[in-house]
Amino acid sequence: SLTIGIVGLPNVGKSTMFNALTRNNVLAENYPFATIEPNTGVVPLPDGRLPILADLVHTEKVVPATVTFVDIAGIVKGASEGEGLGNKFLANIREADAICEVVRAFEDDDIVHVNGKVDPTDDIETINTELILADLQTIENALPKLEKDLRGKKIEQSYMDAVKKAKEILEAGRTIDEAASAGEIGKADVYDLHLMTAKPFIYVFNVDDNELANDELKAKLAAGVAPAKAIFLNAQFEADLTELDEADAREMLADAGLEESGLDQLARVGFDILGLQTFLTAGEKEVRAWQIHKGYTAPQAAGVIHTDFERGFIKADIVSYDDFVAAEGSMAKIKEEGKLRQEGRDYVMQPGDIVEFKFNV
Ligand code: GDP
Repeated sequence: SLTIGIVGLPNVGKSTMFNALTRNNVLAENYPFATIEPNTGVVPLPDGRLPILADLVHTEKVVPATVTFVDIAGIVKGASEGEGLGNKFLANIREADAICEVVRAFEDDDIVHVNGKVDPTDDIETINTELILADLQTIENALPKLEKDLRGKKIEQSYMDAVKKAKEILEAGRTIDEAASAGEIGKADVYDLHLMTAKPFIYVFNVDDNELANDELKAKLAAGVAPAKAIFLNAQFEADLTELDEADAREMLADAGLEESGLDQLARVGFDILGLQTFLTAGEKEVRAWQIHKGYTAPQAAGVIHTDFERGFIKADIVSYDDFVAAEGSMAKIKEEGKLRQEGRDYVMQPGDIVEFKFNV
């Protein structure tokens, strides 16, 4: 499954946040694919629709989609030069599909900052510089063979142009993700290089309570990383939340003036930047959110449930979540009102689709 790698300088609250995430863990029994390793956390994608559906179809079993986080220890200045943990660190990032960068904004004199002062912008630059330097190294290493392949007409000039463009962007101290968002380069054009800064980024600012309430500060920090997504959370508070039962946690959130936890926000945004979306099934056996890539067609989505469903795909009976709830889950009513759609092979799955696939075995 796709993973999000958590990176950041030492002492910014990564472990605190990761441990809170893993306490939020879903039951592994539902996820045979997720061999849970100590540095891997499989987190449920928060989805308030599932309990409502479960109520309507009278089932106890609810299976959410999940987001997988990997804690990548130890970025330091010089990581790109392969010092110490550097190589292992970079190898771990290469394996992740998206990068979650944790940045310290909270002030606490008892907790040493590696650079001597709390400066989120500076910290982001430190980390991104290491990733950018490593990507430049990748390009430097690839260039001699690419030049040769170009002379031998094994690659197109347009590919070489894209590689040179990527090099320029990196040399200017920018990530490919950012430049791609600005429309300056297509990620697909340099996909073969597997550059780290071409992965989607989320920034998590670990803030204290005062900062969390300071909209001006948050807007400023968010603008500094835009168009990448920024999330603001208090890692210590999130850790405390996960120690509570659901009712108490909800109360503590409400007392803090928050609608959902920072970890839930992180799971949601992470799922989205991985390019994933869900569709739903709702039956007596279980209510379930299935994860698919955005843009999947109905047969591809069917294949996520079972490969036989894809092979023998006939059609998909689909009702939207809103229509399902409006009809209180009555299929008779849904059909009567013409809200049940029959979709074929070319149908692209939409968020909120509740599906029953018809297939030949
Ligand atoms: P890591 O090195 O990035 O994994 O950071 P840790 O999670 O180990 O946190 C470093 C120290 O900062 C620990 O003593 C934490 O208890 C503390 N810490 C983490 N998050 C917060 C926070 O939001 N506020 C405060 N005041 N301290 C925190």
